Amino acid sequence: MKKLKVILYFPPDKTDRPFSYYLVKDYDLVFNILQAEVQPGKRGRLTVELEGTEENIERALEFARQNGVEYRPFNKNIVRNQGECMDCGACIAICPSGALYMDPIDWKLYFDESKCLVCELCLRACPVKAIDVNMFV
Ligand code: SF4
Ligand code: SF4
Repeated sequence: MKKLKVILYFPPDKTDRPFSYYLVKDYDLVFNILQAEVQPGKRGRLTVELEGTEENIERALEFARQNGVEYRPFNKNIVRNQGECMDCGACIAICPSGALYMDPIDWKLYFDESKCLVCELCLRACPVKAIDVNMFV
């Protein structure tokens, strides 16, 4: 099984289609919506994590493309240098997805990569540059 994060771009005339339903039903994918900016009649954007066999993910993305929905896979991820981090929490307030959070028991910062949108806002918020971005192909 493979997991892939992609941003799907919907043209205005496609935002009312039950697209996620088709991906789940026809391609047997787990479809996890991380962020949605969709309004009827306007260009929409969904950031999703797809989980399924490599073949089904490829077929589903081809289905998307043929239906006018463009996509862009994430080609970078966020890395945190735990040695540098002071657990100050400044990055938590800025994180739109809840990927960065403080454990109320040990008051340490934790990072849930599966929720990360790679928006890079936390890089700017960190006073000691303990967060970085990794590019990959
Ligand atoms: S890049 Fe940073 S601020 Fe943006 S979602 Fe990921 S952890 Fe949160
Ligand atoms: S802003 Fe930087 S130092 Fe503060 S908790 Fe986040 S990663 Fe750690």
